[in-house]
Amino acid sequence: MTRVAIIGAGPSGLAQMRAFARARDAGATIPEIVCFEKQADWGGLWTLTWRTGLDASGEPVHGSMYRHLWSNGPKECLEFADYSFEEHFGRPIPSYPPRAVLRDYIAGRAEKSGFRDWIRFETVVRRVEPFGDGFTVISENLATGEEVTDDFDKVIVATGHFSTPNVPEFEGLADFPGRVLHAHDFRDARNFTGLDLLVVGASYSAEDVGLQCWKYGAKTVTMTWRSAPMGFNWPDRVDERPLVTRFEGDVAHFSDGSSKRFDAVLLCTGYRHHFPFMEESLRLRTRNRLYAPGLYKGVAWAANPNVFYLGMQDQWYTFTMFDAEAWYARDVILGRIALPGPDAMEADMAAWAAREAAVDGGYMAIDFQTAYVRELAHATDYPPFDLASAAASFKSWKRDKEASIVGYRDKAYPSPVTGTMAPVHHTPWADAMDDGMETFLAVRAAAE
Ligand SMILES: Cc1cc2nc3c(=O)[nH]c(=O)nc-3n(C[C@H](O)[C@H](O)[C@H](O)COP(=O)(O)OP(=O)(O)OC[C@H]3O[C@@H](n4cnc5c(N)ncnc54)[C@H](O)[C@@H]3O)c2cc1C
Repeated sequence: MTRVAIIGAGPSGLAQMRAFARARDAGATIPEIVCFEKQADWGGLWTLTWRTGLDASGEPVHGSMYRHLWSNGPKECLEFADYSFEEHFGRPIPSYPPRAVLRDYIAGRAEKSGFRDWIRFETVVRRVEPFGDGFTVISENLATGEEVTDDFDKVIVATGHFSTPNVPEFEGLADFPGRVLHAHDFRDARNFTGLDLLVVGASYSAEDVGLQCWKYGAKTVTMTWRSAPMGFNWPDRVDERPLVTRFEGDVAHFSDGSSKRFDAVLLCTGYRHHFPFMEESLRLRTRNRLYAPGLYKGVAWAANPNVFYLGMQDQWYTFTMFDAEAWYARDVILGRIALPGPDAMEADMAAWAAREAAVDGGYMAIDFQTAYVRELAHATDYPPFDLASAAASFKSWKRDKEASIVGYRDKAYPSPVTGTMAPVHHTPWADAMDDGMETFLAVRAAAE
């Protein structure tokens, strides 16, 4: 009997278990599945922790999310085709829920699927080695310190790639007198109320963390870019400058010759794909891109296709894409999809890479990833949903952001699963200070 190891019980790992559970419920014989999850609960990044640095057992803290995080894209672009938001909440909800609401949704589908006993919580995978036709997986129970060695036929890596910070050095930063931290360790914007804040970076995390701090009363927020500014219509107290060249005490000097004094520095300088537990021949090495090299259909490790990676792409789509990938990996493992030989895999990966190279800008990236999700979903029995509608919502979202970076979360979109139009949230995002689920749902009910 085939044994499958899934590493990580975040949205990707849960999607994988859901895919197998669906096949099981439809009467298929499925392999024995063991999921290793180093945290005490499922949900991956969506499970908030106050901790930074190391956790209680000395492990690097996985979490990079923070208080007051609201979905940065419409929820309609990440809706599970087999478990709509309406099914979970019993009614339509607005398009931009806060973190706790999305976590509840993720957990709701997992709970319903009946696979919790497949997961070994508080168990970290230390090493995956090829062994015969399969693999040896060495894990450690973080509660007891016990080390266990298991053999598996297939290994699915679903450990995410927004947890190991990419940290550049800047001249003089070590002597900066205020607080310096990476976005991975950012937990609450209220720590920066009244401060002049420098945010190094020009990507999602700089944009969102910078705006959070603005919303919760930072005195000023200055964001810095290396290749290009984000160029949004920023509100008062927020500006963008080119990259810092050096720090002198609490003063940052920028490459345009300007300088400014700051109280704190937040490095939103990205994350590294980091899989130290994978033996070298099995280890994905990539930066954050639409088509990671070496992964056939973005999922199967071509050099040893008994290894799969989920969710390793630059993420426009998230949960929907993880589902498409999980269903695909499941069907390869169940023998429903036959992988081609090495040359054909190579040719297919080269074709996708060429397509990726032709992508110029966000709208084309959305088209690329829509086509990718479509190809995988269509190869399996993933339930049909209106992917064209999700793609259209993505493009409107992008236009909404360009029109108003503080107002885009006040828009509403139709569900690609049920077709229902989301209600507009009762409180504009810029005024909504409470990110709790009760407030999000209960206040909305009162307002109806
Ligand atoms: C700050 C931030 C904000 C984001 N906001 C959004 C958003 O608004 N909307 C959206 O759709 N996406 C957002 N994302 C993207 C996010 O990547 C995905 O939504 C999603 O969490 C990815 O799921 P995953 O399962 O691939 O990875 P993760 O959520 O990272 O889960 C990986 C799991 O693997 C476990 N793990 C790691 N290493 C090991 C090991 N060696 N052994 C055992 N277990 C291990 C971890 O504990 C974790 O539970 C955001 C990401 C960040 C960092």
